[in-house]
Amino acid sequence: MLGQMMSQPLLISSLLVHADRHHGNREIVTRRPEGEIHRTTWRGIAGRSRRVANALEGLGIKQTQRVASLAWNTDRHMELYYGASGAGMVLHTLNPRLHPDQLVWIADNAGDQALFFDITFLPLVEATAARYATVKHFILMSDRAHMPAATKIPGLICYEDLLEASSDAYDWPQLDENLASSLCYTSGTTGNPKGVLYSHRSTVLHAYAAVAPDALNLSSRDTILPVVPMFHVNAWGLPYAAAMTGAKIVFPGAAMDGKSLYDLFEGEGVTLSAGVPTVWQGLLAHTEANGLSFSTMRRTVIGGSACPPAMLRAFDQKYNVQVLHAWGMTEMSPLGTVCTLKGGQEGLKGEDRYSVLSKQGRAIYGVDMKIVGPDGKELPWDGKTSGELLVRGPWIVDSYYNRHGEDILRFDDAGLGWFPTGDVSAIDPDGFMQITDRTKDVIKSGGEWISSIDLENIAMGHPGIAMAACIAAHHPKWDERPLLVVMKKPDAKVTKEDVLAWFDGKIAKWWLPDDVVFVETIPLGATGKMQKNKLRDEFKDYVLPTA
Ligand code: ADP
Repeated sequence: MLGQMMSQPLLISSLLVHADRHHGNREIVTRRPEGEIHRTTWRGIAGRSRRVANALEGLGIKQTQRVASLAWNTDRHMELYYGASGAGMVLHTLNPRLHPDQLVWIADNAGDQALFFDITFLPLVEATAARYATVKHFILMSDRAHMPAATKIPGLICYEDLLEASSDAYDWPQLDENLASSLCYTSGTTGNPKGVLYSHRSTVLHAYAAVAPDALNLSSRDTILPVVPMFHVNAWGLPYAAAMTGAKIVFPGAAMDGKSLYDLFEGEGVTLSAGVPTVWQGLLAHTEANGLSFSTMRRTVIGGSACPPAMLRAFDQKYNVQVLHAWGMTEMSPLGTVCTLKGGQEGLKGEDRYSVLSKQGRAIYGVDMKIVGPDGKELPWDGKTSGELLVRGPWIVDSYYNRHGEDILRFDDAGLGWFPTGDVSAIDPDGFMQITDRTKDVIKSGGEWISSIDLENIAMGHPGIAMAACIAAHHPKWDERPLLVVMKKPDAKVTKEDVLAWFDGKIAKWWLPDDVVFVETIPLGATGKMQKNKLRDEFKDYVLPTA
């Protein structure tokens, strides 16, 4: 016997319809790439998203065809999120920080039909327009006043003109909830980019999970500033979760420096933000240098790479801001775990509390996880044993886009498919997961593993160190030994001996890096993560003093 409840598809357009009807006056504020602060509301976004849908159909784009964006976090980008996906097309967010050759490759791989881009990327699009094999329409997301007088881009369309010429009357189609809605390629930190194709259903379920109290705890009372770009796994789903709750959103546009962000935090009453650790380094440097504090910001989601415990402490102790350490992947929409205390842990104090909160956290409902050994057998949740982390759930990828026949899942004895994350982690008896490394980053010294993340976290707690990356260097006896690459804070006087002494008592002796090298900058990838593969290349012939 089947249940007798309405069967309604979970659609992205329903999030927008909800925000429009129930939170229509809630503001959406954007620092537009053109410079001005633009104010609209959920109602305004809803009307313009319907215009986008009409405009896309007018351009001849059909359901399931891909529409690309090269854009910052803005209201216009969000209109595309809802307009394209809502009409049944697939919004493909391109990462503008990638190399142009890679961008063209990805757009071709995706078969993008139209390319919407911010004014910042005009030179990039001019340089590459002739090379896109499938793109038929180029749309500059600005108004007439900002259109170039002459351009090499064929038939360049002005976004505001296009919207003005399109009606705001549009009935969102009742699509199959399993239809593809958006497409994001992995940032390629460890290999060629791969397309992850989200569905309406996976997106809406992920939003439900994200807003829950033990996840990001979002409500209509929040004002959210996503620093994480909308081209990095849909800004971690925040544009959808915000519509679900009716939160106010503040979009930072192209200005991601500490001062610009801080001014928006204070000016707009931001209560929650989200971004990778390197972004917060810039922001905290600004607040520290100017003796500033946050008057409304109380929570910040930090993920994408490990949040150094020193950063968690600084936010907590100096700024009274709760860090929500989160872990996920492009393949997971992205949320997998979030770190919040469990019932019974509320009384934890000092280091006991930080040692829990610095972990990557507990699985949110909908994500099942386990760690396995090299033989594929599940390992115990004792907080010590580490193994490869596998996950499964309704917002986790089961195959990559446009790579037919490639089986990426690992099947267990019960026939269940698991996605191998490529991360190595331990899980404690309370279910708190801690990433020790990526399988590619782990340092194998005489057959034993050394966690590069642990060594980096400790190094970044040193007052004179801005950033530290630990990589494996070749060793004739041990095969690999840790080499610590350090970027000092401006004017800091730190020696190799100081750095090594800093590890005293904090790690097992055999984990101590064999050498420390100082560099001007540590290369960051397209999503703000340290590019350890670049450092490994740079130091591939490095001879350790212990060799
Ligand atoms: P890419 O794989 O191209 O870097 P993703 O943004 O999907 O793109 O990165 C996912 C990976 O980032 C995870 O598999 C993990 O290695 C790392 N990661 C994400 N969040 C955290 C975190 N909180 N701590 C440590 N590593 C993290």
